[in-house]
Amino acid sequence: MDGKALAARVREEVARDVAELGSLGLATILVGDDPASDVYVRLKHKDAAEVGIRTFDKRLPADTPQDEVLALVEEANADDGIDGLLVQTPVPGHLDEFAILSAVRPEKDVDGLTPHNAGLLYLGRNGHIGATPLGVMRMLAEYRIPTAGARAVVLGRSPIVGKPMAFLLLQANATVTVCHSRTEDLMRHTLDADILVAAVGVPHLVTREMVKAHATVVDVGITRTDAGLVGDVDPSVADVAGHLTPVPGGVGPMTRAMLLHSTVRAARYRRGLLPLP
Ligand code: NAD
Repeated sequence: MDGKALAARVREEVARDVAELGSLGLATILVGDDPASDVYVRLKHKDAAEVGIRTFDKRLPADTPQDEVLALVEEANADDGIDGLLVQTPVPGHLDEFAILSAVRPEKDVDGLTPHNAGLLYLGRNGHIGATPLGVMRMLAEYRIPTAGARAVVLGRSPIVGKPMAFLLLQANATVTVCHSRTEDLMRHTLDADILVAAVGVPHLVTREMVKAHATVVDVGITRTDAGLVGDVDPSVADVAGHLTPVPGGVGPMTRAMLLHSTVRAARYRRGLLPLP
């Protein structure tokens, strides 16, 4: 499944929406100087600029106290020029990440990490949802992968990928199993999957023996190695899978495009064009 090509189409849609809505803004808050986070933030700004979304790059030193981080979130919440707002995670260890993420106004919470938006997803009344699971669902729809009645297995249970992924697949009427670091006999579960989503971060964890013939395999995992970016899925899985997302060029570009899509959604919430449940 070609995430790169589909992402290009999503970006075209977003560019049209931006032209229609007028000025849009996306702000990121980065605390500290984690190099990977720095790369992600830069990419978000580049992507947004390309579709005509204004960006605000807010940075604080690694030792910033909690109240100062919260003050910056409040400032961005109150700024009318900012439609989408995200705090790059992980934040440094001395900070209360849950409190910081929860302080983002739900309308602006493009990562879907506030209790409001996460709760809406749980209740099946979607508001903002993280870009990665959204991108995966868009790819499954695009490739007409049947989800109703399908057995879906999600590897990983993080709030940003695994859990929202599982809830979206459940909403799409799949029978969902969530596996994680304490799951015993992973293969017993994965072999059952019509749709297998790997969001772990262990290179080539999923081997061909673990995949049912013709299954759809979505590789969310990204690990940086000397040889480049490596996914959770071993390349030999291509011999058995019916559909497979490559790394790079699969979920990554879709995630980037769907963040822009979510920024448009945030603008619609904020302008009263779409109600946030
Ligand atoms: P995380 O570390 O928060 O979560 C990893 C999950 O994997 C945990 O829930 C853990 O229980 C589970 N896990 C660990 N070992 C396991 C094992 N042996 N078997 C089954 N489950 C196991 O990571 P995350 O933020 O959810 O990201 C997961 C991966 O996806 C990472 O590689 C990350 O870089 C990547 N990612 C990619 C994109 C993208 O755009 N492609 C976006 C977000 C995250």
